[in-house]
Amino acid sequence: MKNDWIQQVQDAGIVGAGGAGFPTHVKLNAEAEYLIVNGAECEPLLRVDQQLMERDADILVKTLDQWVEAIGAKQGIFGLKEKYHGAIAALNTAVQNFPRISVHAMPNMYPAGDEQVLVYETVGKVVPEGGIPLQVGVIVVNVETLLNLAKAFDGEPVTETYVTITGEVKNPGTYAVPVGTALPTLIKWAGGVSVEPYAVIDGGPMMGKLIEDPEMITVKKASKGYIVLPADHVRIQAKKKSISQMLKEAKIACCHCNLCTDICPRYQLGHDLHPAKLMRMASYQSLGDASASLDEAYLCCECGLCETACIMNLQPWKLNISLKGQLREMGIKNSHNKAPEAPRAFREYRNYPTHRLIGNLGLRIYDVPAPIRENPEAVEEVRIALSQGIGAPSVPVVAAGDQVKRGDLIAKIPEGKLGSNIHASISGKVIALGDESVLIRKERQGGMDQ
Ligand code: SF4
Ligand code: SF4
Repeated sequence: MKNDWIQQVQDAGIVGAGGAGFPTHVKLNAEAEYLIVNGAECEPLLRVDQQLMERDADILVKTLDQWVEAIGAKQGIFGLKEKYHGAIAALNTAVQNFPRISVHAMPNMYPAGDEQVLVYETVGKVVPEGGIPLQVGVIVVNVETLLNLAKAFDGEPVTETYVTITGEVKNPGTYAVPVGTALPTLIKWAGGVSVEPYAVIDGGPMMGKLIEDPEMITVKKASKGYIVLPADHVRIQAKKKSISQMLKEAKIACCHCNLCTDICPRYQLGHDLHPAKLMRMASYQSLGDASASLDEAYLCCECGLCETACIMNLQPWKLNISLKGQLREMGIKNSHNKAPEAPRAFREYRNYPTHRLIGNLGLRIYDVPAPIRENPEAVEEVRIALSQGIGAPSVPVVAAGDQVKRGDLIAKIPEGKLGSNIHASISGKVIALGDESVLIRKERQGGMDQ
């Protein structure tokens, strides 16, 4: 049975909908003690998972129970924040006839959705340095991924994803968007931009990427939201700052207070990640000391909390990203694999409240609802990327000029590689086939949509 289900998941092209887009058929092809649904949605302003858990509680609980059985787990857990009152009430009602499924409410802190933080908060296990939850008997899936698993049971592939569009738009909202839809379409659906000049972050304000040209962006399966902000907003300026500028400032301003290390969620879990020491090494070109090495950067989850803690507005996370890139280029791998049995003693007092984070980021006025809305119009054209996340780009199985229906396979996993199948997200004609994407346009004949 399990093999059939894994095949269904692979056929449906499901990837992790809450992160880097790891292929779900690979993740679920394992045995684990716990299957945890990551419903923390800890990035400020995003509003997808909390609403899906409230709206679709019954189907989510049923599907989780089925997969708990399939992977041989003893328990399935929804991990979400205690402030999601509607979702908690709906899930608590839905789990009543499912003794293996429970709901775990976590404090309203950042980054509750970091996989390793979530695992510790829900089952009290610390994932080893540089490791994955499976090493402590846990598989984690995102809420929307679970919804896609439910659809896969009905033979429905992934053709759409839920996306919040918020910030400086007239009507913040959350939409079920065909994969490949252009970002300007979403901005239009949300009533248009209400400030000029503006900038857009792809994802949450902490870990999301600054978009260079919003006209060129299309929605991917793992997209979760877009935040429109004034171009001179502090969050935009912080993301724009170059690593060399940041390190120059660090040389002058870093007071070695160690706050960035004290607040770091991975350090607090017991991992040997010391952002303060890495900043000292980089800004003074020193080799540091015997208790720290540059490849600690591999232990960083890039949550960005160290910047929020820093009274000098420095960005240790940016240094870590840069270090990881340089180390990989040199072929140097992570040497850290310590497996702490418990987190550091004062971890519970170091949680960073999300409401404070929102204030510190200058986002208080944008912390508003973004309700799930009907799409106001059909999408006429999609440009679907052949790379939808981790793994090799998919190989097209259509040619320019082909007619496709929504849900048809248009690109498949390359033989023997890690990747995901891709399906047409609207019905229409394949207009162009590039190295990186497939362009599909809805055709009209005699005034009728085909
Ligand atoms: S981004 Fe900063 S706070 Fe987050 S894990 Fe990395 S070093 Fe720690
Ligand atoms: S918090 Fe800022 S000032 Fe303090 S050690 Fe870290 S980078 Fe330096």
